[in-house]
Amino acid sequence: MPRLQVPLFLIVSFFPLLGFCYIDIVITIFRGFFQTGTLSVLFTQTNNPIPNWRLPEAAYIHIPFCAQHCGYCDFAIAIGKDAIRDNYLDALEKEISKLGRPHPVQSWFIGGGTPTELNATQLERLCKILKQWLPLTGEAEFSIEANPDSTTEDKLAVLASYGVTRLSLGVQSFQEPVLQLLDRKHKNPQVERVIEDARKFKIASISIDLIFGSAGQSLESWKYDLTRGLALSPDHFSTYGLTYEKGTPLWKRMNRGEIIPLEDTEELAHYEAAIDMLEGQGMDHYEISSFAKKGKRCWHNQVYWENSAYYGFGMGAARYVAGKREVNTRDLDSYIQKSLSGQETIFQSEQLEPREEAVETLGLNLRRMQGANRERFFTRTGFHLDEITGPKKDYLVQQGLLKDDGESLSLTRRGRHLADWVVTKLF
Ligand code: SF4
Repeated sequence: MPRLQVPLFLIVSFFPLLGFCYIDIVITIFRGFFQTGTLSVLFTQTNNPIPNWRLPEAAYIHIPFCAQHCGYCDFAIAIGKDAIRDNYLDALEKEISKLGRPHPVQSWFIGGGTPTELNATQLERLCKILKQWLPLTGEAEFSIEANPDSTTEDKLAVLASYGVTRLSLGVQSFQEPVLQLLDRKHKNPQVERVIEDARKFKIASISIDLIFGSAGQSLESWKYDLTRGLALSPDHFSTYGLTYEKGTPLWKRMNRGEIIPLEDTEELAHYEAAIDMLEGQGMDHYEISSFAKKGKRCWHNQVYWENSAYYGFGMGAARYVAGKREVNTRDLDSYIQKSLSGQETIFQSEQLEPREEAVETLGLNLRRMQGANRERFFTRTGFHLDEITGPKKDYLVQQGLLKDDGESLSLTRRGRHLADWVVTKLF
């Protein structure tokens, strides 16, 4: 992790807001940040308001364990490792306890990996740790990612007793050949059982993940997956195009010529079909990959797209606090050893300059269908949206990739397919 020479760095900038001079103090403690709880002390000692997008109201907790390595996955994971799962929770507790005092938040997002690889006792312990250090407040959201083959009734009972509100189920496909290509081991009846059980425990929102554009998958096959998904009436869909991340088993198979990816035009047709079919069933397409029934958007993920602050704990977890991005080590043994011995678990750390933060904010805002609102963007970043985009924005509007109604800038339907490219061209 890069180290700076000074222990404390203050950037003070003045933003006119509602006729007053608004003082935004970005405080970054480069040494002993979480170890001492110094950040929270400084925030409470100053009389200057800290904008809430700099103070986390959301917490991500990473559980890296998986039963097998799916061929397309390049997440921070650990296969098996049953014997050290309790050690991992010890390390996680130690890392979280460095907050120094409880920090109330509005959301927990337990992701992975496969959080439901933990047994019921371990899940209960995890919830207790979170309740102690990151108590949920207000209309809180408690999301957990789950796989159909490891989500048992006793685990759901524990999660329900701690107020889980959202279950994000990794379905990916309802067809055996596609599941085999992706190295997914679950069977369709397990998906149906978990959804039934989740409803029995009154989990307010059920989301299913589906992957489109698998090698050899026809448009009809993808529509079949969407139809099967809709038949289960989930509250939320996340649909992702299959990507071949460098170094993954699937990428290696592609390089050996064993599988041939779909053409871009075919993948585009899959994405278009998802929009048509899900919107056709009244689902709100609120982010490039996300569709929700009314009132069922994922609050936690919207924090990311707003570019607001969030905590992140666990192996490989990312956090964004007071304009500083940090990522923990992705090595399980190193994470456990460092955390338990009181060392930093951080692998990368970067303090963003205000302009960098504004650029990132616009890129993330554009993932949302509502795009970036000019007034809010200025309040949020201190930059006018047009000074960040420059003249290229008008060209992209003329090309039908961006829509600019004077108040907000957003991607058009055509622009959504090329979102990464559009954002790259914009700056
Ligand atoms: S279950 Fe999810 S996190 Fe685990 S290997 Fe498969 S895709 Fe990756």
